[in-house]
Amino acid sequence: MTMTYKQPKLWVLGNGQLGAMMSHAAQPLAVEVETVDIVNPDDRVLPIEPNDIITAEREQWPESELSLQLSEHKNFINGNVFSILADRYTQKSLLDKLSVPTSPWFLVDDELSETKLHSTLGKRVLLKRRTGGYDGRGQHWLKQQEKTTIPADWRNEAIAEKGINFDEEVSLVGARKKDGTCVFYPLTLNLHQNGILIVSIANLDRLSHLQSQAEKMLSSIMNDLDYIGVMAMECFRVGDDLLVNELAPRVHNSGHWTQAGCHISQFELHVRTLYDLPIPSLNSAFPSAMVNLIGTEYDSNWLTLPNSELYWYNKNVRPGRKLGHLNLSTSSHEVLKANIQNLIDWLPEHYSEPLNWLKEELKI
Ligand code: AMP
Repeated sequence: MTMTYKQPKLWVLGNGQLGAMMSHAAQPLAVEVETVDIVNPDDRVLPIEPNDIITAEREQWPESELSLQLSEHKNFINGNVFSILADRYTQKSLLDKLSVPTSPWFLVDDELSETKLHSTLGKRVLLKRRTGGYDGRGQHWLKQQEKTTIPADWRNEAIAEKGINFDEEVSLVGARKKDGTCVFYPLTLNLHQNGILIVSIANLDRLSHLQSQAEKMLSSIMNDLDYIGVMAMECFRVGDDLLVNELAPRVHNSGHWTQAGCHISQFELHVRTLYDLPIPSLNSAFPSAMVNLIGTEYDSNWLTLPNSELYWYNKNVRPGRKLGHLNLSTSSHEVLKANIQNLIDWLPEHYSEPLNWLKEELKI
């Protein structure tokens, strides 16, 4: 009699591109994935088995019978972590508790005044909505010179952070296994445009001296939360110091390059940790780049680029919307240079700056 090797099913809260890419990465591991639309829930009852595993591709979701069926399952991994990290107040409090450096901040309550904020945090203070903000949304700058005031409806709904004059933004994507050991990819350098990640580069030699500092920070967070799976930590680099800007208890856009740059992508890594499968070294041999395709129509030219991977999310095109990404990963400088030049020609004008920055960083 032959036996079939089959893992319990993986259910994902959320059905966006992250869940789709997780599903794609899980298939070779014989893990069947079902992503669930929890924003527009239907009234079906999900056929979840007791041994199935539940994860999420987002940190927040509206409560419904459908979402409760998933989030109340005994195998909802990291179930207690999402609410802590989805709220900037509890997330910042956690960082302070662990003495992980982050920009100084206050909870914007009924008493907090602009004067107090500027006298303690400086001339530039950034209000951030406690929940729901992403890609630069849910932010409000208070500038002392312009006498900007705290909007009334932001009280008790926001935190206030010192505006940081950072050198650049980097992120660390790593994972914690069931036995408590942690693994990490090399640091990623991220460039944003209008608050949205546009290009990232990983494995740059010039950032390697910050790797162990970043790993210590993320390990202490994941250990404290007894976390299992992939987590991303976005940081500001100020000289040789890292300050955490934001944590995401999930796979992250700044880890997309791992699909082409490592044998185990962040999506596969997440699945491996959830199923307690072995995780051999995550080494990547050379720098890799990722270009987000934002608000731009599909272009079949992209498929002609050698040593590149296109991921198109099949969403309706809207300005500022992430619609896909390209991973460029090759040790050949000529190929990389020609690919970037082609993209400068094919993509909208506002891509020239980030793509030229990419060439400079890669010294090609
Ligand atoms: P976030 O939504 O927290 O990821 O912030 C989006 C972007 O706003 C970041 O990538 C930074 O470029 C900028 N930003 C966030 N927090 C600060 C801060 N405290 N000081 C300066 N810029 C910030």
